[in-house]
Amino acid sequence: MTAQAGPTEASYAVEQPYVYCRRELVEPDWTRLPGWRDVTREEWESAQWQRAHCVKNAGQLREVLGDLVGERFYRDLRRDQAERATMSMLVPPQMLNTMVPGEPPSTETFYADPVRRYMLPVFSDRRVDWPSHPRATRDSLHEHDMWAVEGLTHRYPTKVLAELLSTCPQYCGHCTRMDLVGNSTPSVAKLQLALRPVDRADAMIDYLRRTPGVRDVVVSGGDVANLPWHRLESFLLRLLDVDTVRDIRLATKALMGLPQHWLQPDIVAGLERVAVTARRRGVNLAIHTHVNHVNSVTPLVARAARAALEAGIRDVRNQGVLLEGVNATPADLLDLCFALQGEANVLPYYFYMCDMIPFSEHWRVSVATAQHLQHAIMGYLPGYATPRLVCDVPFVGKRWVHQVEDYDRQRGISYWTKNYRTGIEHADPDALTRRYEYYDPIHTLPASGQAWWRRQALTSRSGWPPTEHPKPPASYR
Ligand code: SF4
Repeated sequence: MTAQAGPTEASYAVEQPYVYCRRELVEPDWTRLPGWRDVTREEWESAQWQRAHCVKNAGQLREVLGDLVGERFYRDLRRDQAERATMSMLVPPQMLNTMVPGEPPSTETFYADPVRRYMLPVFSDRRVDWPSHPRATRDSLHEHDMWAVEGLTHRYPTKVLAELLSTCPQYCGHCTRMDLVGNSTPSVAKLQLALRPVDRADAMIDYLRRTPGVRDVVVSGGDVANLPWHRLESFLLRLLDVDTVRDIRLATKALMGLPQHWLQPDIVAGLERVAVTARRRGVNLAIHTHVNHVNSVTPLVARAARAALEAGIRDVRNQGVLLEGVNATPADLLDLCFALQGEANVLPYYFYMCDMIPFSEHWRVSVATAQHLQHAIMGYLPGYATPRLVCDVPFVGKRWVHQVEDYDRQRGISYWTKNYRTGIEHADPDALTRRYEYYDPIHTLPASGQAWWRRQALTSRSGWPPTEHPKPPASYR
């Protein structure tokens, strides 16, 4: 009797829906772009140079790209800024350089680029049938409603989100905090923080001292890379003095968008000081970043992650956003995760579904699509590095996409429950039994569901545009 032949190496390679292939990281050559033809490596690796050369409008983009990209694109971009954009434009050279990374861009390749699609959205990207979902709102997660003190969202029982500032070194078109973060646009007048930064920080620390049930603090904004280091360090050391705080996570997309910031010797030395104190006190100190596409993972990003880990940060994790046209395929997600995990020491942690903010319908996917994507990426990465796809359900919080309780696929309404009360439901007897709704993009629904929403739109006021300018909560608990 002859032994049965086992699978060959070749059969493993060709029969899988996704084929892993290790790819070395490459820093795209910035001198391929006319405006940066003479930029030296020293300039490129300087955080000051990067910040000074961010692209803030179509004219500045034109100075970098020149005639490689046609006037049609710049017109489209200007129209979007004037009529649709919820975020003002701010793209560091590091991020712009990852658009069409392998060659000089053309109009067509620039339009098609995944990083461009979310960092430089244009009018023609957006849907014309349903540019906004009727239930879209500016603070779609109701974070302000849950502020315990200004900027401190207390949603989950043991965790808080501390928004220390409202700016970032880069502005993402789909930003879920579009209500607060960045400069006002013609479509969105931003909410202004009222307290002085020092008073806000004092109020947060005071609340945490009074609330020992909170053990986990996400220090965010905006992006903490825009906070002067001495202020961030002082806040972190004060947090580390609250002995009930056991986890601290620093939220910074700049680790990818402006890695030069996190590579500055004084910043690395500062991180090291904070990490030493955290370790001595047994507190888990981590960085959470936000990378949406594999092209953004470059050697400089990997260096910045390594520098943070060598400084004593326990972990660098990625929380991406699931975006149609950017990363919403199994291959896109897996390529990104393998680059993060295998080449940059960044743990793939979450992909959030894009929130129901105004003008985001062209980016959003349905819960069914997210479930399919979660299924499709299982089994390739190490288990601990397989990201969870989550839906941030208004008034609920993060739910793994398979946790849906009920799902009306005709109308695209999913129903969710939760196992804790948020900060605004302490006296609500139904908080733990109520079903909370989330809505799929209407253009993804069958014809009957789309017709139902058209009838609804005729009879009810949509959440967008708002009838009045939002105000911060009158009082903080
Ligand atoms: S970095 Fe984060 S907070 Fe800043 S614009 Fe992007 S998504 Fe919003």
